[in-house]
Amino acid sequence: MANDYDVVVIGAGPAGYVAAIRCAQLGLKTVCVDEWINHQGEGSLGGTCLNVGCIPSKALLESSHLYHQADKDFAEHGLSVKSLAVDVVKMQQRKDQVVKDLTDGIATLFKANKVDIIHGRATIVATGTVEVVERKTRNLSHTLKAKDIIIATGSSPVRLPQAKLKDDYILDSAAALELKQVPKRICIIGAGAIGLELGSVWSRLGSEVVILEAMQKFLPIVDSKLASLAKRSLIKQGLDIRLNARLVSTRVKAKKVHVVYEDKAGEQQDSFDKLIIAVGRKPNSERVVSDALTLELDERRFVLVDDRCQTSIPNVYAIGDVVPGPMLAHKGSEEGIMVAEHIAGNEIELNYDLIPSVIYTHPEIAWCGMTEEQCKDAAIDVNVGSFPLLASGRARAMAETEGMIKIIADAKTDRVLGVHIFSVHASELIAQAVLMMEMQATSEDIALTVFAHPTLSESMHEAALSVQKRAIHIKN
Ligand code: FAD
Repeated sequence: MANDYDVVVIGAGPAGYVAAIRCAQLGLKTVCVDEWINHQGEGSLGGTCLNVGCIPSKALLESSHLYHQADKDFAEHGLSVKSLAVDVVKMQQRKDQVVKDLTDGIATLFKANKVDIIHGRATIVATGTVEVVERKTRNLSHTLKAKDIIIATGSSPVRLPQAKLKDDYILDSAAALELKQVPKRICIIGAGAIGLELGSVWSRLGSEVVILEAMQKFLPIVDSKLASLAKRSLIKQGLDIRLNARLVSTRVKAKKVHVVYEDKAGEQQDSFDKLIIAVGRKPNSERVVSDALTLELDERRFVLVDDRCQTSIPNVYAIGDVVPGPMLAHKGSEEGIMVAEHIAGNEIELNYDLIPSVIYTHPEIAWCGMTEEQCKDAAIDVNVGSFPLLASGRARAMAETEGMIKIIADAKTDRVLGVHIFSVHASELIAQAVLMMEMQATSEDIALTVFAHPTLSESMHEAALSVQKRAIHIKN
């Protein structure tokens, strides 16, 4: 393999692999170095997202939701199932196959686009020089030269000193996606997106799930009305969410994890079959650059970049979870495209104000743009419209009437500033909101748009009509 490249991409997660493919499409000679090793001991592309994040979690959410529906919801439709049972091993095999198909798919895409792959750990040792140590042999295998380098090394789960990982008992999110049996009692530390999604999977399959959250407010980044609806719904589904509960210590004894935590009432104790730590992720910014170079980091160890993702080292860019901003796959991918275009001499911008977020509970929570609280803090007068799914014909036909869509529009210009959805398929519905907001739509624009009937999307239409107090299917 010739070792001179236009671009070396370090990391093949959704930020790095997308950047590499776009660089190659733009005619740049590109190599992507990635150190991920899967359970079979083989190099696997796709990073956290494909191997232990977005994809395996959604595969298990889907399977567990189907089980839950068959168990609890089918009867309402006049359907009965004889001898419904969970085969976790088979469920996991399906999930593993989905992961394998998609990670292999990236290798195929690399080949089609002529992106070279090296499985190993990369370190930038000088401007334009990257050394790679093969992950398996630990031998220095390549010294790569490139004009431009993209750091896309992602993130790792935050660990807690009071709950050190212990096989079979104290697990991180990756291990929590690998369980081969349904545990009787699970404790999850952290009521963020990952904690709620993992909690939903195992609770639907029959575990008793307790979630301990140190913060007083549930989902503080979510619109407060939606957060309170979601909390009520998840509690109704059986999740025992304990807020203001700070983990003090843990001990594994007699095949149980004994947990001590503090809440308003003082010290509490409880014991579980598994403890899952889901308290966030930290950037993989250490050891990417040798001591000979200075890569500036912020106080939380994220790589500091400008609005084109350039780092403090000339011709070195950083994208994805390793830089500040929402730790989301699609944000990293779009940064990858922006940087590739920039390296090729083209200019495109990424609108950081319009990055959608989704929490894949049931119903799903999705949002984009500003919350009412943020508008208030920014002294922006707003008009707010909302529409409950209960009044949607399609939602009724689906027996999925829980939730609402809320649209926030600037009171002066009517421009849509934020859309917040708690609904089945919210992850799909939010895309139309992002598109509308990218096009700088007003609530009037949405109100004058024709939506197919009967669809959940009509609720977006009605929410826009409701901004001007003229919704048709609810009292204004
Ligand atoms: P990563 O995906 O972390 O990839 C980085 C890659 O770089 C890895 O393969 C790593 O091995 C490699 N690497 C690191 N250092 C080196 C080095 N020195 N040399 C060579 N290779 C190196 N996001 C969403 O948008 N939607 C979701 O639904 C979602 N669900 C999630 C569920 C879970 C359980 C988890 C854990 C995360 C989830 N995320 C989700 C977050 C998402 O996975 C991350 O935002 C995304 O993977 C970040 O992409 P990245 O390319 O920046 O980094």
